[in-house]
Order: sequence, then structure tokens, then C-alpha cells
Amino acid sequence: MAPGKVFGLLFVTFVAGAVVAGAGLFAVLDGRRADAVADRDALRTKYESLSAKFEELEAKTAVGQGSAAAGAAAPDVGDGEPTSAQLRITPPTDAETALRIAVVRSSEPVRMVGEGLIVVQSASKAIPMPGGELLARASGKGVFIEGVGTLPSGTTIKNRLGPTKVGDREYPGTIELHNDGSGLLLINELELEKYLLGVVAAEVPAGWPMETKKAQAVVARTYALMQRSESDGPYHLEATIADQVYVGTAVDATTRAAVTATYGEVLLEDGLLVSAWFHSACGGTTEAPADVWPERAAHGNQIVECGFCEDSPYERWTVDLQPGEITKALKGAGHKTVRSVTGLHIQERTGSERVRELRIDTNAGPISMSGQEFRALVGYMRLKSASFSVEVAGNLFRVSGTGFGHGVGMCQHGARGMDRKGHEYREILTRFFPQSNVAKIY
Ligand SMILES: [Zn+2]
Repeated sequence: MAPGKVFGLLFVTFVAGAVVAGAGLFAVLDGRRADAVADRDALRTKYESLSAKFEELEAKTAVGQGSAAAGAAAPDVGDGEPTSAQLRITPPTDAETALRIAVVRSSEPVRMVGEGLIVVQSASKAIPMPGGELLARASGKGVFIEGVGTLPSGTTIKNRLGPTKVGDREYPGTIELHNDGSGLLLINELELEKYLLGVVAAEVPAGWPMETKKAQAVVARTYALMQRSESDGPYHLEATIADQVYVGTAVDATTRAAVTATYGEVLLEDGLLVSAWFHSACGGTTEAPADVWPERAAHGNQIVECGFCEDSPYERWTVDLQPGEITKALKGAGHKTVRSVTGLHIQERTGSERVRELRIDTNAGPISMSGQEFRALVGYMRLKSASFSVEVAGNLFRVSGTGFGHGVGMCQHGARGMDRKGHEYREILTRFFPQSNVAKIY
């Protein structure tokens, strides 16, 4: 055969091969695409049915006491002790800096589970845990790990094959075992974006709509960065309502989508991070931070008319307080000579009509405190907000109020109300933080 023909034949064979391979690849891609479409449709159906079920459950709760539902899943931020005051902070420029979250405190031994569990002793030395289990407890000034011995406080545990299970939660990243003097303190170190999955999943009920979750993701990201820059202890945030609730890994698809869609976005005003507090329901008007945490600096907050949370289960609530329970609470708070409470009188209200000063008449004289302090005294779940009035009903005090939480920043039920009326997450955010803008910082 002439060299030209051989070459021609080879060329034809090559082209034919490429066409066949190409067709095969398209078939594979097509198959994958079909699978992805099927997965998406299945998830959508599941989401819609769960969403409907959630709505139904919430409607039932709203008719009843209105004490659980979204309140349990969408609690207050900052109802714990406020931390230090420096808020005028510039945002970081990358997402790599890890966050450190206090996730577990225990005076009992703690069991950790993970197939690839290792105890890290140095950069080059790690002890694998056979059976993928580890039992640790505080011992002396260090931590004792069964089968390993006593190690220094702060020892790092890693799972090379995925998240580490502690109790019924799974944590991505690493976990440090600290001895805090009263027992074990577990600090989960992980990337901010991964942390947000476990926050949005906890703070927003799964069936709530997407723009609400996106707004929550931006607020939670901003809040976490604010806390990180303020913290000077071994960790940045608590995994409870003292900061924002964090439950480890999140599996629901809409939470993942909300965090991913807002990747790196925070709230800024004049180039500085906004004090991105949030609460469950404002009951009509949000509160100024200075009226909740007088010593704490804040940036980018205003009192705003919400107008979108009338559907919340906390629109109207009433709680009956026995004089005896207030007496007991006052004694517990250090007012040792109080034996009886005879009156509750609202002396002054804040700009948002919440109780700025409440006078409690007692046998030992009057005691004054703010509505927020009174909430702390009788219980944040019992007295849902500082937006209340008091009347005497027989031998008890009937307290009627509106909203749930401290009222500062974003109203979660209001965000949901705006979402339902077609507002997107940036509009939700600028309603509650009017001078701010959403900026992508990494
Ligand atoms: Zn509201």
C-alpha cells in the first residue's frame, strides 16, 4: 500500500474512533444529567411535602400556646451575656481563617466516634483510635483518653474520613479537647462557610423559604466575623443562643443552597461590619441595641418598622406570673431580704415601646430594672420579649406582650413574611439594616 493511502486509512480510523468516543462521552454525560434532574425533582417533591407539613404544624402551634415551633428552632441571638464592645472592625479578606466554636461542655466522660479517628500529638505524630471510638474525660490539668493516657489540655482530635460524631451531632473540621477546670470543653475548629451550614440549619426551620435562609446566612456570617474579632478566649462563639445555634453538619439541600449562593457575602456600612444581631419576632418594631446592651458598641443598627411578622406565633402572648415566683427569682439574683412582691409598674418605655424601666414593689422597697433584665430574671422563654404591659388579675400579674426575642436587628419571622411577599434577601437585609449593603468580601 502506498504511504499516502496508509496515512489516509490511519486518519480515517482516528476520526472514526474520536466520533465513537465522543458519542460515548455524550451518552455518559446525558445519563448523568438525567440522574441529576431526577435527583433534583425528587428533592423538590420532598422539600415541598416537608414544607407543607411544617406550615401545617406551625399553624397548629400558633393556634395553641405558640411556645415551641419556630421559637425552638429560631431563637434569640445574644440573650446570653453580651461580650466586649469593639465592633468597628474591618472584614477579613479571605475565608481560610478558621472559626472556633465551643460545642460541648461535660463533667462526664465524652465519647467520640469516627472511622478514621486520630489523636494528633504533633505535626508528624498521631495515634489512630482502633474501632473508630474514643472516650475522653478531664483529668488533673489535662485530658485523659482511654487506652492512650493523659495528654495536655488542647489536644486535637481529627477524623481523616469525615465528620466526628459526638452524641447525636456530627462535626466537620477538628475537635480540641480542653480541660476548663470543671470538666471537658470541646472546641470545634472549622471553616466559616462549613460552620454556617450548621447555623442556618439550626436557626431557620427547614421548611422556610429560600430568601429567608439566604438572609440568615449573610447575617450569621457577619455575626460570626464580628464575634471572631471580639473574642480573646480559646474560642470565638458558643454553639447556643448565647451567640447563634450551631448543630454541626447540615444535610438539607436548601440550607446548603442558601449558604453557597451567598458565599463570602456580609453586611457592611461605611466599609465596616454591621452588628448583625437577629431575633425570632419583633412584634412590629425592632429595638435599638443600646436599650438592650447599654455597654456594648454597635454599628449599623436602627429602630425600624417591620410590618411583616404579624403571622408569627408570637404576635400576642400572655403569661401569668405569681408574686411568689418573682420573689424567688429576686432572692436568687441576690435580693436576699425580699420576702414578698406587691406590685409591678412600668415607669418608662424605649423608642420602640419596649419596657425601659420596670419598678418592682417589694417588702424591702422598690427594685428597678429594664424589661430585658426582667426577662433574664423570670426566664427568656417565659417572658418572650420586653414589649409588654402588666395588669393585676386576682392574686397574680398578667403580662401581655408581643414578639419573641431582644428585638435587635433582623426579625426572622419578618424576613419570612417579606420572602413570602416576593422580596429577595438583599431587600430583607436592607429593611432591617437600612444603611448597610451586602458585599462579597471573598
Ligand atoms: Zn418583625
